[in-house]
Amino acid sequence: KGVIMDLKDHIRGIPDFPKPGILFYDISTLLAEPDAWQVAMGRMAKIVSRHQPDILAGLDARGFLVAAPLALKLGLGFTMVRKKGKLPGETIQYDYDLEYGSNTIEIQADCVKPGQRVVILDDLLATGGTMEAAIKLFKDVGAEVVGTACMIELTFLNGRERLDGVPFDTLVAYD
Ligand code: 5GP
Repeated sequence: KGVIMDLKDHIRGIPDFPKPGILFYDISTLLAEPDAWQVAMGRMAKIVSRHQPDILAGLDARGFLVAAPLALKLGLGFTMVRKKGKLPGETIQYDYDLEYGSNTIEIQADCVKPGQRVVILDDLLATGGTMEAAIKLFKDVGAEVVGTACMIELTFLNGRERLDGVPFDTLVAYD
């Protein structure tokens, strides 16, 4: 009690995953530690509630582990941004470039009501390409994207500069 938890003590860096030369920050250890997960979600809840959202969106797949528990905790709706081909019904898609190749994400066309305030969440912001694409999708369906947040930011990649002026917050930063 009275000691401020450093969430970095509960995140591991795994070298050479998924490719040689990449240091992958793994939140599995944090999620497996109940005190650390509670502290992380408590800090996220404060960040997210400042934006007064109606609904929280999670990015496939670790973003679901951030957005869904927070939505329940805050009494908000939850919606999924998924990799192509996973969502039923009418969807809208966005293609974005990766270092090698490209990726497509999608949301259901009716996942938010026009004018609803959305906060988009993920475990980690790297280049910002995924978050940038998700922002575009929600704007396309008429939502107001009032904020974004991740548990981890890789600051040296400057991902937050790609987010079209939408506020971004993080719990932990690595540079
Ligand atoms: P970006 O589009 O910002 O370049 O990449 C972010 C996406 O890739 C997120 O959905 C995130 O889950 C995943 N990602 C990239 N690098 C890492 C990493 O080191 N650790 C984790 N947990 N996810 C990563």
